[in-house]
Amino acid sequence: MEEPDDMSHTLTVLWTIEPQTPPRPWLACSRCRRTRPFECSGKTRLNANGRRLDAWLIYRCADCDGTWNRPIFERRSVRDIAPETLDALQNNDSGWIRQVSFDVEGLRRNTDTIEEFAECRVTRRVLAQPLEGCTQLEIVLAVPLPIGMRTDRLLSAELGLSRNRLVRLEEAGRLKLLSGPRKALQRPIRDGMRVILDLANEGNQGDVADRATGRLHPA
Ligand SMILES: [Zn+2]
Repeated sequence: MEEPDDMSHTLTVLWTIEPQTPPRPWLACSRCRRTRPFECSGKTRLNANGRRLDAWLIYRCADCDGTWNRPIFERRSVRDIAPETLDALQNNDSGWIRQVSFDVEGLRRNTDTIEEFAECRVTRRVLAQPLEGCTQLEIVLAVPLPIGMRTDRLLSAELGLSRNRLVRLEEAGRLKLLSGPRKALQRPIRDGMRVILDLANEGNQGDVADRATGRLHPA
């Protein structure tokens, strides 16, 4: 396999992978009188009590108007709150709220029953075109929000290669995963991971490269 720094035959693409639907905590709804999924409303509430502040992210029952206030912090002294956080809360900052709504680990402090959604959107951008024939593909993964999708599942769906094929390519040293954990193929994708795939002996190398750039839709 050629080294990743041999750029003349390498097509380098950046994939930004973002989950589409925030996780839904299942909680007892006092109106429905049963356990229901709650969805992030996109609104926060900030309450001052002297020099201490409470902040919540507001969730709504999927079936009625019932709300649940997810604590962000409680009885916190103003000087102990990061100015960016306070600013985001005061302005209902949508980017900040989105980050918190996808913080599934934070949600686990409030409930054990959390519904997670696998679907995600992959945005592709070509970073470097090969100067000559393309025999190597490098994919840089940007994962701005936590996402549970396994690397093999992502690559299989987006490149049209079966998961078995990916395992065989890795065993043959023709698929390498850099800047990831051990056994990265079977683990969730990580921000900054790089996938290097040797296409030299791949019969359908043009298709794989076109799927990587989005010219061809995933199989
Ligand atoms: Zn309800």
